Amino acid sequence: MTGHVLTGGCLCGSIRYEFDASEAVVDLCHCATCRKSTGGATVAWAQVKPSAFALTRGVPAKYQSSSKGWRHFCGRCGGQLFMSDPAGHSIGVTVGSLDDADAVTLSAHGWDGSRPRWLCLSDDLPRYPADPPYDEVD
Ligand SMILES: [Zn+2]
Ligand SMILES: [Zn+2]
Repeated sequence: MTGHVLTGGCLCGSIRYEFDASEAVVDLCHCATCRKSTGGATVAWAQVKPSAFALTRGVPAKYQSSSKGWRHFCGRCGGQLFMSDPAGHSIGVTVGSLDDADAVTLSAHGWDGSRPRWLCLSDDLPRYPADPPYDEVD
């Protein structure tokens, strides 16, 4: 793989991946589905083309969280790794599973209308009340 290659994986190390982040779009998703699936207050996603993403170790478990999205996670430690959509438009990689979370830069907030009132973030990035216009996966 070439370009701006980033690596990551789950907590126990059973699943590893790499992707070319050259054209990645990074957003925070404040939707209730992301909260429920991860237990976190919000989830940062790096969206890339499927051709820019590759598993390098292990086979993740998956769960269909909506008609448009599958969530892939480690069946051993439960770490949430990435999302895919049946049409193959994009892969959303959880920024929290990167080896270096500072290797990407945040560009927007999605589902800001569902953000918990107590989660206050002081950046001036675009805030979309629901799906960002570029998003294909829930
Ligand atoms: Zn694991
Ligand atoms: Zn979400």
